[in-house]
Amino acid sequence: MSERIFRIAIDGPSGAGKSTIAKAVAKRLGIDYIDTGAMYRAIGLKMLAKGLPMEESPALTEMLAETEIDFDSGNVFLDGEIVNDRIRTQEVSKAASDCSALGSVRAKLVELQRKMGQAKSVIMDGRDIGTNVLTDAEYKYFLTATAEERALRRHKEMLEKGQESDLAKVLEQIVERDHNDSTRALNPLRKAEDAEEIDSTNMSIEQVVDYICGKVGA
Ligand code: C5P
Repeated sequence: MSERIFRIAIDGPSGAGKSTIAKAVAKRLGIDYIDTGAMYRAIGLKMLAKGLPMEESPALTEMLAETEIDFDSGNVFLDGEIVNDRIRTQEVSKAASDCSALGSVRAKLVELQRKMGQAKSVIMDGRDIGTNVLTDAEYKYFLTATAEERALRRHKEMLEKGQESDLAKVLEQIVERDHNDSTRALNPLRKAEDAEEIDSTNMSIEQVVDYICGKVGA
């Protein structure tokens, strides 16, 4: 596979397993993984830290102009600082979803994402990768699972990490984020016409990874 450059786009709702699957596919194929959700989370974190309201403002424009987001060796850097854990709280999840509806935030991050997907093979996951960021990606998937199954997976994950979790609340938050992400005016979550839908409700992570790698021919 040495010289062939290809892009894999994976979109889908929260908790469908996109990042776990994308990470595993990247590792197996030896390509870079770009977690675009982490980029919205980083902006959400910074807006919270600065006390900026989740709306367009001159202060937001200024903040975006001086914000740097990078990935290196599995770490997410916000202005040179590793923020891997700080972007995974419930509060930041909500802030990420809120700030992702803002045009200035999307414009900044989409530009960065397109640059990251230019010169090398990548797998990128998010909500609008197949429909907006990498419309010409060679492989496009729309990964789904029922809201109940996604809530259950997130719930188990939190318990495994020793964090408290209330299944009913997790489900409520997932349904709310699905609604936010698919009804916003700008680049809402939807399947690209040329994307293949994979319903992972009854599939293991390995099965989905095998399926995608098989398609890419690895
Ligand atoms: O995937 P993850 O849950 O980390 O994404 C956090 C939030 O960022 C999502 O709820 C969504 O609102 C937003 N997002 C987006 N477009 C992307 C990736 C994420 O709007 N490409």
